[in-house]
Amino acid sequence: MIHFVGAGPGAADLITVRGQRLLEQADVVIYAGSLVNPQLLESVKDGCRIYNSAVMTLEEVMEVMEEAEAEGFKTVRLHTGDPCLYGAIREQMDLLDEKQIPYESCPGVSSFCGAAAALNLEYTLPDVSQSVVITRTEGRTPVPEKESVEAFAAHGATMVLFLSTGLLGKLTSELIRGGYAPDTPAAIVYKATWPEEETHICTVETLEETADQHGIRKTALIIVGDVVSHHHYQRSKLYDPAFTTEYRMGTDQSN
Ligand code: SAH
Repeated sequence: MIHFVGAGPGAADLITVRGQRLLEQADVVIYAGSLVNPQLLESVKDGCRIYNSAVMTLEEVMEVMEEAEAEGFKTVRLHTGDPCLYGAIREQMDLLDEKQIPYESCPGVSSFCGAAAALNLEYTLPDVSQSVVITRTEGRTPVPEKESVEAFAAHGATMVLFLSTGLLGKLTSELIRGGYAPDTPAAIVYKATWPEEETHICTVETLEETADQHGIRKTALIIVGDVVSHHHYQRSKLYDPAFTTEYRMGTDQSN
């Protein structure tokens, strides 16, 4: 069996309990060496074979999985954050299906949650934004045209940009062209939840200059939207004394 496991955003204790248990039981671990905390590998059992997928092709990863399966081993494929975002898991699963090798997924804490924690941020403030757009700028990997940053920017919702730190000048132009005011609050979160985590609050206009000032070129998330400054929002209905919910009678009997 192959287990796709989310390693979490960085800090070794942010893997799930289930993920940790699978790691401890694994005979083979293939980890995304560019972003997974190597400390996680300390919990594997003696004799576990460890492979770093950062230096491997998809075919090489498959070969390791196939051999492990032939020996009746348990394999953990350890991906950064949650495997469902930019994890390139589907292509692995399709090949495993072809080879009739069983697999399952164990979720992880995505770095966009780690970044919110680093900033004590609520992405969905009432009256400010109730949606989070998770996307990236187009780099060497193309983005479908209808999902351009400009198109999403038109909504003015909270936006979290992965894989975009090297392209901040372009990102700023796209965000402004799409409709965000240049002084819209933004944040750069570098290595969220790692010991070397850095958070920098800036604006849409000053993203590139802020990253340059701090020498940030990769492993960062860009967060854009008024929620970053967390001023001027409405209180939640859920905890409003007047509001009645399934669990609590409110003082205002008209709703
Ligand atoms: N599946 C991962 C994302 C993989 S794509 C997840 O759920 O988080 C890799 C990109 O994720 C990086 O380029 C960076 O933009 C972002 N990233 C991953 N870990 C990060 C961290 N700890 N802090 C900030 N950004 C991170």
